Amino acid sequence: KKIQPKKDTYVVASDSTFAPFEFQNSDGKYEGIDVDLVNRIAELQDFTIEFKFIGFSSAVQAVESGQADAMIAGMTITDEREKSFDFSTPYFNSGIQIAVKKGNDKIHSYEDLKDKKVGAKIGTESADFLETNKDKYGYSIKYLDTTDALYSALEINEIDAMMDDYPVIGYGVAQKQPLTTPIPREEGGKYGFAVKKGKNPELIQMFNEGLAELKRTGEYDEIIGKYVKDGS
Ligand code: GLN
Repeated sequence: KKIQPKKDTYVVASDSTFAPFEFQNSDGKYEGIDVDLVNRIAELQDFTIEFKFIGFSSAVQAVESGQADAMIAGMTITDEREKSFDFSTPYFNSGIQIAVKKGNDKIHSYEDLKDKKVGAKIGTESADFLETNKDKYGYSIKYLDTTDALYSALEINEIDAMMDDYPVIGYGVAQKQPLTTPIPREEGGKYGFAVKKGKNPELIQMFNEGLAELKRTGEYDEIIGKYVKDGS
């Protein structure tokens, strides 16, 4: 028996650019793994959503303040976030990684980041990782608002390195962005769809049911395969 939605429309906040999870295609329309998953799940489970692509930290704030009912934004499930959010079952295995400009052969380890400027998007797992390890490796951190700004900062040498989720860097590399990843990934991050703790429990249930169905039918793999080619 189907779970009943409690709202006519659920507002789902998301990042502004986080390809291949959400990004504007050449027609200016948003697409990506997160977009396709939620749209299909809403169809299967008979609920209505409205996406708001407002940026990662804005999405976090929108859910916390009740301006959005949920978020999906390649958001890593962490103990810290579980204090204020309820997450769906994980829908994607990820992790974070340092990237430098292609042709930069001076950085091979975190130690090589000494006295360098490393960028990350504000409010992310990468930003937390950099903050935690700053004194150990002796780099400084530059926080950027969006993934676009982060990749541009590297491009124009405003930063020497950046940290981001590896499927996002991998997608950039596959799209011929001049990037290289000289340091092994930090594995283990899992993405979840999130609501404010204690709110909209039926939405999490419907997401989980829909996700399970997409996995059963193979449609989940089709959606991933549309955006992620093997080896990236
Ligand atoms: N997975 C990372 C996090 O949750 C980055 C998400 C993002 O930039 N959209 O912090």
